[in-house]
Parts: sequence; C-alpha cells; structure tokens
Amino acid sequence: MTRRFSGDRLVVATHNAGKLEEIADLLSPYKVDVISAAAMKLPEPVEDGTTFVENARIKAHAAAQATGLVALSDDSGIEIDALDGAPGVYTADWAETPNGRDFVAAMTKTHEMLEQRNAPLPRTARFCCTLVMAWPDGHDEVFPGAMPGQVVWPMRGDGGHGYDPIFQPDGYSITFGEMDRWEKNRISHRADAFRKLLAGCFD
Ligand code: IMP
Repeated sequence: MTRRFSGDRLVVATHNAGKLEEIADLLSPYKVDVISAAAMKLPEPVEDGTTFVENARIKAHAAAQATGLVALSDDSGIEIDALDGAPGVYTADWAETPNGRDFVAAMTKTHEMLEQRNAPLPRTARFCCTLVMAWPDGHDEVFPGAMPGQVVWPMRGDGGHGYDPIFQPDGYSITFGEMDRWEKNRISHRADAFRKLLAGCFD
C-alpha cells in the first residue's frame, strides 16, 4: 500500500533550477508549499549510486533527514542505445567542467561519440526519471518514468534545460528544446513518473 502525502510542505531535493521549475509546475494543482533544497541551503549529498533509483533515494533521504519534512527527489538522465545506455546516471557528470556545468559541451561530446561509432540513424534514446518521496521516519516510495525518442544533431531550440536541444521525443518532429514547456511537462519522462507519484501519494 503506497503511503499518502498528507502535509502541506514538501522539500524538493534538487539544486537544479530547471528540474525545480518543472516539478513546481507539475505540483501546482495541489495545495503544497514547495521548498527547494537549495533555498534551505542543504548540502548536496554525494550521488555515488549506480542506478537512478539509488541516487534518487540518496537525495530524498538526505533532505528528509536534514529537514524533518517529507522530501521529493528526482534522478534522471538520458540513455542512448548506440552508446550502450550512456551517459545514463552520469548524464550530469558529462557536463562538468572546472567552471561549472556546460551542457553545450556535453551535447557536443555526445554527438561526437555517436559519430565515432558511426551510429546509424535514428539514434534511439530515452530520457529516464525516477522520483522518490522520502519521509523523515525512513519510509520511501519510488516512481520510475521514461520518454522514448532519438538524439538529433545539430542542437535545436533554446527552451528547457540540460540535453533538451538534442532530444526529439517519439511522435514529434521538434526537440524538447523547441517545445512549449507545458507540452514538455505533459509528455516528458518526469511527467510520466509524476502521474504515478500523484496517483500513489496525492490523488
Ligand atoms: P541528476 O539527476 O541531478 O544526476 O542530473 C540529471 C541530468 O540529466 C541533468 O543535469 C540534465 O542534464 C539531464 N536531464 C534530466 N532531465 C532532463 C530533461 O528533462 N531535459 C534535459 N536534460 C535532462
């Protein structure tokens, strides 16, 4: 039996502004005060898991323990078939530079690796998202989501965040970067996981 959320404040265990904005949009129909881990100045835990679930659990439990509030985390990334599922849980790491995250560099690296492998078109991929709700007593609930599509080149669109400009979801001829944010929030991997979260913990 899935545990219901009955409070009116929820910590969103992310320091990623793009994710926070999407999660706040997705929770906007509910009477929940959304506070981010960054706004509460919580330290970022080390994400040393090897799966989306492990990393999402690390973040959600760290925030729930630090605040005494229910915490919601998101661990996500893109799995590219011709790269054997990479970058996967290392999606954010591919963007790390000495001066902070550079997603144009990460997308360029992704494209170059696909070219080196002569990967045939379409370069099938999926965005994955695992949401974890953690309670201060150590209980958690896990909700996985995915959106299949393909990696395209060149980058298209300046909306969204992260790898959005090179991901074209199945059934569309535009990338997430070109897509209206409401439309992305209706179909994305995060929306898929959210539907399960809302059905399990909220509705
Ligand atoms: P993490 O979950 O904080 O480890 O980071 C996941 C990374 O995956 C983000 O930094 C983004 O680069 C990427 N990512 C996750 N979701 C999306 C999305 O909706 N659009 C574009 N990139 C995403």
